[in-house]
Amino acid sequence: MKKTLTDILVCPSDKHSDLNLIEFETNSSDVKSGLLYCIKCIRYYPIINGIPIMVPDNQRNFIHESNFLTQWIDKIPDDIKSNSLPFNINKINRESS
Ligand SMILES: [Zn+2]
Repeated sequence: MKKTLTDILVCPSDKHSDLNLIEFETNSSDVKSGLLYCIKCIRYYPIINGIPIMVPDNQRNFIHESNFLTQWIDKIPDDIKSNSLPFNINKINRESS
């Protein structure tokens, strides 16, 4: 995913357009792994293999996402870990370690 795409993406839940980009793994201007985080509704959206998974809560895959987030847990800011939807990232971390 091109970093500049962050400027035009909106949160699927509330259409908020100011999403924070947390980069885990990048290749020049491309984000291969990371998170998009909506500060308005505290939802996070994973970027897996360069693809932002921006779907409604009822289409999210907890198992798939928890495996991914566990892999990058050290790169996720604490305030997001303790304050996130649709899944609590701190809880994911505890259950898988
Ligand atoms: Zn939002």
